[in-house]
Amino acid sequence: MSAVRQAVILCGGLGTRLHPYTLDLPKPMIPTNGRPFLAYLVDQLRDQGIGKILLLTGYRGDQIERYFGDGGAFGVEISYSAGPVEWETAKRIWEARARFEPCFMLMYSDNFIPFDLSRLAARHAAGGKPLTVSLCRKENGNIRLGASGVVEAYDSSRSRPGLDHVEVGYMLAERDRLLAAITDPEKSFSNVLKALAAAGELAGYALKDRYQSISDPERWRKAERYLAAKRILLVDRDGTLNVKAPKAQYVASWTQFQWLPGAREGLKMLAQAGFQFALITNQAGVARGMIRQDDLDDIHARLREDLAHDGVEILRVYVCPHHWDDGCDCRKPKPGMLLQASHDLDLRLDRTVYIGDDTRDVDTAAASACMSAYVGEPGELAGLASDIQPRIIARGLLEAAPKIIELFEAWERTDAVGAAPGPAP
Ligand SMILES: [Mg+2]
Ligand SMILES: [Zn+2]
Repeated sequence: MSAVRQAVILCGGLGTRLHPYTLDLPKPMIPTNGRPFLAYLVDQLRDQGIGKILLLTGYRGDQIERYFGDGGAFGVEISYSAGPVEWETAKRIWEARARFEPCFMLMYSDNFIPFDLSRLAARHAAGGKPLTVSLCRKENGNIRLGASGVVEAYDSSRSRPGLDHVEVGYMLAERDRLLAAITDPEKSFSNVLKALAAAGELAGYALKDRYQSISDPERWRKAERYLAAKRILLVDRDGTLNVKAPKAQYVASWTQFQWLPGAREGLKMLAQAGFQFALITNQAGVARGMIRQDDLDDIHARLREDLAHDGVEILRVYVCPHHWDDGCDCRKPKPGMLLQASHDLDLRLDRTVYIGDDTRDVDTAAASACMSAYVGEPGELAGLASDIQPRIIARGLLEAAPKIIELFEAWERTDAVGAAPGPAP
């Protein structure tokens, strides 16, 4: 776990694009599945190991303070720096400067994206800049990211050519160097970002997932659907559900498909607990001419049929048919298929589990901030980097199932803290 322990969140905005909802409500308090949007950020930060949160409030800040209190109910320590509504963002940061830790996370309160703090911290340390900002790819964004990971242009007006990313917040800051860059606290913080970028002092960390935002009513409703709790699991095929073919061979027809002991029972137990599934599998045999597409489709149709008898529903099947030399984005350990499933199923990857029998499955999950369950020989895990370990370890699906149910129940409990009719605004 990284050494970053504090997050500072800008919560002072008026949220005028959310009128009339924000006429009497600060934007971060906008109800999202019965709780404030900001509560999801607090949960996420806590889960990443951040125990101290400083909220920079302005407009209707009293409502935020009344709701979150000292943070105890959320398992974190929350404190406040309140300022007048008319303060610019740089001013809010500047006025709270005495309370920052030497390295802290700086956030906006209207974006959400799954992220992994240890990966962000590693990138921040490697870049050596005063500030590292998390980015998403976007045509006509406000940022151009250079190949070296340094932001080459920052343009709020979005008029310069080649702006291929947008900032989502989730910044890591070196306190003293950041404060030195705030030359005029009376202006918006975007001016600080712009100046840092112009000086080659702003690092960018590109996330591959989509980000959610409450910037306008349409996006707010989308974010609400995305953040709603779901019981959907992502599952590998060969070696997890069925007996793997010998090395360099493939399961090329249904007659060669053999369920692993306990696999169907494990899925059934999960289905009875309300889970649905998406299958995610590499099948390079297709590109190599060793599996016919028709046969592969047949295998998946029959697999679904078998499972339907058990009351198990496979919502989608994702196959990478490419050769490892093709350089596609979907072949594991690249996270392309997980990201696609997240998109199709409105699935929050840091609130689901990818179940697989290969350490590459664990890598695949980590590459998209998804949790993972490893089903296989625990000894194999020694080959993984120490900061990439599965959340759940079991010998097979049947042994993993109760652990997965327990994990989701824990998530659902924490995600329900502060939901209406509790201490709602
Ligand atoms: Mg496998
Ligand atoms: Zn592929």
